[in-house]
Amino acid sequence: MADAVDAGLLGRMKVILLGPPGAGKGSQAQFLSESLRIPAISTGEMLRGAVAEGSDLGRKVGGIMARGHLVDDGTMADVVEERLRKEDAREGFLLDGYPRTLPQAETLAGILDRSRSALDAVLLVEVPEEELVRRALLRQRDDDKEEVVRARLQVYREQTTPLIGYYRERGLLRAIDGNRPIEEVTASLLGAFGVQV
Ligand code: AMP
Repeated sequence: MADAVDAGLLGRMKVILLGPPGAGKGSQAQFLSESLRIPAISTGEMLRGAVAEGSDLGRKVGGIMARGHLVDDGTMADVVEERLRKEDAREGFLLDGYPRTLPQAETLAGILDRSRSALDAVLLVEVPEEELVRRALLRQRDDDKEEVVRARLQVYREQTTPLIGYYRERGLLRAIDGNRPIEEVTASLLGAFGVQV
């Protein structure tokens, strides 16, 4: 699959995967990361790792995550800045789960500006809300109880959807219908880079 990508772009793209909780961003991030040869960076996974470790960060965010709320922008800025400074993310990355608020988008823009860099694309995976609730209840993660799922969707609607307009205005947004079989969604996402699969 990766052979179809313009070789000059491999490993050099800076991409955001945007979409509601349960849209399948995690699985798609893995496929895209392999095809485009860029590290998939999931802030949710990083935070779950911190909770499992029992680190200071984990103790700070555990309760917030369990309620389906967002960790504050300042804490997330530290987490993301430190991760993007690592060598493997210098030339390219796929961000899954960040940014989730307008201030986070501004933080990311600042980090990229300082390294004289810019985003290449923001891929929006769209799935209807009832389908998201159904999928989340099938997954049964700790923070996937129905009221928590609904809370996460409300947080997405209120705090994250403004990013759609923000990135559309900047000419970066590519919307993909995520309510289809997983391989079709992957093909459309890669298609956004002109890749035929
Ligand atoms: P996710 O796996 O991306 O759905 O993230 C799981 C949880 O981690 C979210 O419900 C939030 O509590 C927290 N989280 C992950 N990324 C962020 C972020 N960018 N800003 C605030 N909270 C986040």
